[in-house]
Amino acid sequence: MERLTNRVKVMEQKPMSFMESLYLPAIFKGMAITFKHMFRKKATINYPEEKRPFSPIFRGLHVLNRDEEGRENCTACGLCAVACPAEAITMEAAERTPNEEHLYREEKYAAKYEINMLRCIFCGLCEEACPKDAIYLSETFAPSSFTRKSFIYSKDELLIPHPVNEPEKFEAAKGAREARQKN
Ligand code: SF4
Ligand code: SF4
Repeated sequence: MERLTNRVKVMEQKPMSFMESLYLPAIFKGMAITFKHMFRKKATINYPEEKRPFSPIFRGLHVLNRDEEGRENCTACGLCAVACPAEAITMEAAERTPNEEHLYREEKYAAKYEINMLRCIFCGLCEEACPKDAIYLSETFAPSSFTRKSFIYSKDELLIPHPVNEPEKFEAAKGAREARQKN
């Protein structure tokens, strides 16, 4: 038969020696390897009770930011959507009315803001493009799901908790972001 390469090895099955036919040396050798690993530092951790620290450049689930008064930063300018190479972001802009000044920081805001996490490649370009510090990639994973629809995150799912009404949740959502930015 014609062969494409000369890397083929012909294997021959030799008869077992007396020691090999006892199997015991091989069993003890295997047990010695197992025993040796019992005293070594474990490569695994007990997730989810234990968690490894994130890398300083980790980019997880997006968060839509608020200012210190709890007003939404996003002005629906669309720069993040234009910068997104995966076309994962869609939004609809709306004009702020005088009685909504406590809700939105600028005159325009995102009435609808969606990110399709199945398209997103977590590149962080949306965060870089935003002139209003309105979006950032947090240290949270997108949880798994069985439906495609659940990976389209709406504005309500993306908005950071209110810093005045829910200060603990707000701090937890911010994570180590500020410390990272200072470095
Ligand atoms: S992280 Fe990248 S791919 Fe994901 S929404 Fe932002 S710009 Fe698009
Ligand atoms: S998140 Fe930033 S870049 Fe995107 S629409 Fe809002 S303000 Fe503009």
